[in-house]
Amino acid sequence: LPEQEAFDIEYWLLEEAKLQRMPKPKSLAGRVAMVTGGAGGIGTATAERYLAEGACVVLADISEDSLNATKDALTASYGRDVIRSVIMDVTDEAAVARAYADAAVEFGGVDILVSNAGIASSAPVEETTLALWNKNMEILSTGYFLVSREAFKLMRVQGMGGSIVFVASKNGLAASPNASAYCTAKASEIHLARCLALEGAEAGIRVNVVNPDAVLRGSKIWEGEWLDQRASTYGTDKAGLEEMYRNRSMLKRSVLPEDIAEAAYFFASEKSAKSTGNIINVDAGNVQAFTR
Ligand code: NAD
Repeated sequence: LPEQEAFDIEYWLLEEAKLQRMPKPKSLAGRVAMVTGGAGGIGTATAERYLAEGACVVLADISEDSLNATKDALTASYGRDVIRSVIMDVTDEAAVARAYADAAVEFGGVDILVSNAGIASSAPVEETTLALWNKNMEILSTGYFLVSREAFKLMRVQGMGGSIVFVASKNGLAASPNASAYCTAKASEIHLARCLALEGAEAGIRVNVVNPDAVLRGSKIWEGEWLDQRASTYGTDKAGLEEMYRNRSMLKRSVLPEDIAEAAYFFASEKSAKSTGNIINVDAGNVQAFTR
């Protein structure tokens, strides 16, 4: 190489190395995220992912004890300035509106909503009482509507768009044994997301869906009747069920709360600026592979 060219290359490599060492700006800095079900397995993992990217987070959950424990744990790592918590039932219209009003006062608004609060309660259809059916519809379908409606109102006033991420379920696309109420409610969340994506597009409000497959670790859903029902259907315990889901997936891997958080981060961030009304199935390939 001629001398000048060699010098240029060396100079460029040094500059590049310097750039690599510089601290990267955090991708969600200045953003505020409302995470419903923030005291649960997937909600907490998502809140933590957002905090690590510089966002401020409002943890909203119905369970006061879990909420306090989660807030304390996250505050220890990220500091008290960036975390708030609110006891909120997603089916309580007034409480939901209050939570957004408080977030606007505390953090100046909400840019990201993760609608994730949920239960898993189901039974064979003949044993599904109207109360059980309504409970699924109220918390999952109506709850997702209420938290999204308030997010829309605030995001429109802010005038800077926003991102809404629904944590729905693989069961919103495919049937699961003895779970018609849950599966139907989850399917309605997915269609609500599509409808809201259309309504929000002009204002720059994007709405997308993350569908987890079974996430046994860290999830309180898998501590109660949902586990018992699946265990009686498949004849195995919690560890055995995780192994079953892993084995029947294409990738032969278990899905963890952090995996859902990563997809929820993608949809919250500018990396997905041109995606709305879309779905990511975080399922290790379980939805598309009929291997049961
Ligand atoms: P989790 O039970 O650990 O967390 C759910 C949280 O939602 C809890 O902290 C709970 O207190 C809260 N919550 C319940 N009802 C509420 C209400 N009315 N108002 C406000 N908060 C309420 O469960 P998870 O596994 O983290 O589930 C999160 C979401 O992911 C749910 O919507 C669930 O349906 C969905 N999902 C989970 C799995 C899985 O296998 N864990 C699979 C697919 C979809």
